[in-house]
Amino acid sequence: MNLGLRILGVIKKLISIFGKILIKLIMKKHFYALLFLISVFNSVFGQLKSPSDFIPNYGKQITYYHQVENYFNYLTGESKLIKKQKYGVTAEQRDLNLFFISTPENLANLDQIRNNNLAAIGMSNTKTTTIEDKVIVWLSFNVHGNEFAGTESAMTVVYELLNPTNEVSKTWLKNTIVILDPCINPDGYSRYGNWLREISGKKTHPGLNDREHMEVWPGGRYNHYVFDLNRDWAWQTQAETQQRIAIYYQWMPQVHTDVHEMSYNSPYFFPPAAEPLHEFIEQYQKDFQTTLGKNISAKFDKQNWMYNTRERFDLFYPSYGDTYPTYNGAVGMTLEQGGIGAGREVTLENGTNLTIKDRLAHHATAVLTIIESASSQKEALIKGFRDFNNNARQKVKGTYKTYVLKSNPKLEQMTVLLKKNNIEFAYANASSNESGFHYQSKKNQSFKIEPNDLIVKVDQPRAVLTQVLFEPNQKLNDSLSYDITAWALPLAYGVEGYAVKNSIEIKTKATIEALAKKIPEAVYAFHIPWNNRISAQVISLLHQANIKVRSAMKKAVFGDIIIEPGGLIVSKGDNPKIVDFEKTVSDIIKIKSDFNFITTGFSNNSKDLGGENFSLLKAPKVLLLSGKGVGSTEFGATWFYLDETIGYPVSIVETANFSRVKLYNYNTLIMADGYYAFTDEQKTQIDAWIKNGGKVIAMNSAMSIFEDREGYTLSPFATTEDKEKSVKEEKELELKKRFLDFEGEERRAISGSIPGAIMENKIDKTYPMSFGLGNSYFSLKTTEKCYPLLKKAINVAYIPKDYLSYGFVGHDMKKKLTETVSFAVEKKGEGSIIYMVDNPLFRGFWENGILLFSNALFLVN
Ligand SMILES: [Zn+2]
Repeated sequence: MNLGLRILGVIKKLISIFGKILIKLIMKKHFYALLFLISVFNSVFGQLKSPSDFIPNYGKQITYYHQVENYFNYLTGESKLIKKQKYGVTAEQRDLNLFFISTPENLANLDQIRNNNLAAIGMSNTKTTTIEDKVIVWLSFNVHGNEFAGTESAMTVVYELLNPTNEVSKTWLKNTIVILDPCINPDGYSRYGNWLREISGKKTHPGLNDREHMEVWPGGRYNHYVFDLNRDWAWQTQAETQQRIAIYYQWMPQVHTDVHEMSYNSPYFFPPAAEPLHEFIEQYQKDFQTTLGKNISAKFDKQNWMYNTRERFDLFYPSYGDTYPTYNGAVGMTLEQGGIGAGREVTLENGTNLTIKDRLAHHATAVLTIIESASSQKEALIKGFRDFNNNARQKVKGTYKTYVLKSNPKLEQMTVLLKKNNIEFAYANASSNESGFHYQSKKNQSFKIEPNDLIVKVDQPRAVLTQVLFEPNQKLNDSLSYDITAWALPLAYGVEGYAVKNSIEIKTKATIEALAKKIPEAVYAFHIPWNNRISAQVISLLHQANIKVRSAMKKAVFGDIIIEPGGLIVSKGDNPKIVDFEKTVSDIIKIKSDFNFITTGFSNNSKDLGGENFSLLKAPKVLLLSGKGVGSTEFGATWFYLDETIGYPVSIVETANFSRVKLYNYNTLIMADGYYAFTDEQKTQIDAWIKNGGKVIAMNSAMSIFEDREGYTLSPFATTEDKEKSVKEEKELELKKRFLDFEGEERRAISGSIPGAIMENKIDKTYPMSFGLGNSYFSLKTTEKCYPLLKKAINVAYIPKDYLSYGFVGHDMKKKLTETVSFAVEKKGEGSIIYMVDNPLFRGFWENGILLFSNALFLVN
């Protein structure tokens, strides 16, 4: 008998003696002595309270976020196997926390283990050779706030890892560092949790309709700004993501697990993932997914739990919690439990009841098996991870080795994105003639690199991620994708870009030196170029400071200052009351480094400052509609743009309260994608308001309130013949379809779909809504809606004949989109309607779209 077993025997004996004393005390009702004895027992034997011991109703009701935090804080105080690190706060000021779980020895060496892991892939110079490598497993729970069994299961997982009586888990921790984030999205989790608590009665409603199965708008899935954090990993528009990724790069785990829920009738999903799998995914990542599939299924089989693998959840779009870690060399994965809409308990279609306890038990089993498997596959995982990161530099997976972006003020934002993703870049400091793939013309052509062009080389630690984000033609090995299929950064940012097959050797510099500006004592007017989101931030500040501002309709030249269309002008003449004009204005506009000034209103090309070329802009007074019927994330993207991106005041009113709004207090009405059930009377009210100078920005389905209505031009058909033709074709198709089989229906449906692709748009460069965008506009299209070019309107951006596109576009859709409009403006009396078929603010990452929306808001009068 070894020493460990002997000690265990003694402990067992002590427990039994302790038990007998307890029973005696209970029988004699010595409760204080009882409590005292329990606390002595806990401290002597290190017995930890399980989530059920600590949290009232655990597994029966959602745990409040503060209770989750309390439980983790309790564990951190009681156990030597766990360490806490707060890594940020949310928009609603909730803490974001990570917990490191391993043996006390490993926790004592945490920093060295971390550095060694980074050093092995060239991300750190410090290395401690005496410390053995550990496999790092990162567990992320509840990115979608309403998928709450995730966070519930995190408490069971951590308990099983720490619980001294669970000896098996302790063996895993010897060679494993578990990094556990109990809740990635505490704001969404709390929105859902507070709601579920509020509407819960004493009894559950498993087989019945009840509001606990019917979530209210905008739903707890999203964060504070109603963004989907599981679409934000690469773009990092949201505070939660930014703070998390910063610490992710300090660790670089070998395994990342993202814990989700889906609609409640679906059986559990675990790896291997479904097709399409991105072509850059390595064999070792696929192998470990298969290992997990086998290990988890063995556990599920024992319990007779239903599950599936390789269906539905693919690995392609780079901004998920499974793909993003995958492109960083980890084995990234998604776990999905049926649970959305389940409330506390629900009856499934097979007649069994699903409870919170079931949901969290499935998750905990899968997650613990992942840790167990990672621990047993430590060597293979570490080797695969290091090969992935080190070899990626040498054997470039894609076609291209260098990306060149022509000098452009929009690069300022692109470099912000690259920095967030740890992608290295430099600026050319010489000229050279090259040839490469030109994104905007989709052709190979020669071009010249000039000083200040941005150079991004694939030969760098983030080689794979760099290629995934820049690769113009992503290979899609299965077109049934769950998400958008193209995102090439030069097109998203509206910057001329080239992808070059060889590694370009050219002199570079780390930064572009800004020239110091000396503002003279007397300035006639300031000029702020209109060319990126900072231009919109400046005009937002100017309007809020009640400073009058104009915008150029055509190019104008003053001495050596060239003002391109859209350029903002703040003149002393328009603003006679500003005290210390030069200082006051330059203090506001200095956030835009390329601002300049003119000392005369007399232009070289006769477009004088006082003439009709410079139109005075109205400050928008914005009303944004929210509430039932409005697309949650589409509303969120607009709200975030106004509140956070440009910091502009906005009134948000629920559509149900529209009749209480005094519309004439506003001059701009924004309707995000959604269904708006206006009464006829309300529609008439909006018509009159537009005629009197109101501006509507209607996006996608919101446009339908103007569609085919008397007095408006918007229609899905240009002529009655077109309409008849379409009806006829539809009927013929129905007849043909009778002979087709059932199985092919899903595949056939995708020929008429566009899950998300980039479309070339021809733009009317003479109209303010196109100012600053460039020579063409590449729009991210995620909708099957098509409208021919509008009559008696300004067709600002449309898809031309023989257009270029990137990503998957269904065969039928491809034809249908020819010569359809993406953005148009209809003038009506004094006002206007801006139609946006595509959402330029989609997920907040289409940088040129942010400028396009700013044009609509600020420049279109
Ligand atoms: Zn989810």
